[in-house]
Amino acid sequence: MMVITSPKEMNAWSQTAKLQKKRIGFVPTMGCLHRGHLSLIEVARSQGKCDTVVMSVFVNPLQFAPNEDFDKYPRQWELDKKLAEDAGVDVIFHPSSEDMYPANAKTFVEVADLSSVMCGLTRPTHFRGVTTVVAKLLNIVSPQVTVFGQKDAQQCFIIRRMVQDLMMETKIIMAPIIRENDGLAMSSRNRYLSSDERTQAVCLSQSLERAEKMINAGEKRSAVILKAMHEYIQQNPLAKVDYITVVNTETLQETAEVFNKSLIALAVYFGKTRLIDNIIL
Ligand code: AMP
Repeated sequence: MMVITSPKEMNAWSQTAKLQKKRIGFVPTMGCLHRGHLSLIEVARSQGKCDTVVMSVFVNPLQFAPNEDFDKYPRQWELDKKLAEDAGVDVIFHPSSEDMYPANAKTFVEVADLSSVMCGLTRPTHFRGVTTVVAKLLNIVSPQVTVFGQKDAQQCFIIRRMVQDLMMETKIIMAPIIRENDGLAMSSRNRYLSSDERTQAVCLSQSLERAEKMINAGEKRSAVILKAMHEYIQQNPLAKVDYITVVNTETLQETAEVFNKSLIALAVYFGKTRLIDNIIL
């Protein structure tokens, strides 16, 4: 596995790979790799039919608000390198903040509307940070296929919209959520949870399972489903709901009824730790 830190070198590598008719799959991450991240590599190879995979590891300062956990965000570069290599990554791209954001940079990429709902309500500058860095990474790596996890479904839908609107070449694949044995979606932030919080955190996935059962039994009204989810989560004294919503995946606007391909998504605080989860029907 090659380690590349310079954007120029990364881009030169990709240009050469393309001349060699390689199909490049790209997996952007902030590191602190777990099985959820590693599953995306396999999806790039199988579903994306890629014969070479580039993973980026970059904790993007622009997507953290000043009151968020940028400084505290877990970093484990040496271990990440080993995990990525064992999982079959060909190139790991690990740029510095100075290279990604030169002091004279003035350009931001923002996807209107989709970025200001759901997680955008409590994190108003977050998605602008994500789309700006992903646009830069896509220009540098120039992949035919880019894989994101459904775990961050809103992020994935926003990036799909950006790629379409900016006429970028890459195909976006959304990969399934990888979960712990009890159902909790894997996340680098799960390590912030105390043991009591960790026990109660399973209420996110369980509330989604409950919603799915109601829908399978014929319930269509969003309000009824959301009420049941709220009540279920409120049984856990350490959980504080940020939002629970049913939206259309194209517009991310709320819908009064669930339908095929509705996104049911939620964010719940445990202390300062904010967890997210979702299902797509
Ligand atoms: P992050 O490092 O949190 O920015 O995540 C990098 C990528 O991994 C994003 O596309 C996430 O959606 C994806 N990801 C994170 N956790 C999971 C998970 N549990 N299952 C599948 N994909 C995930």
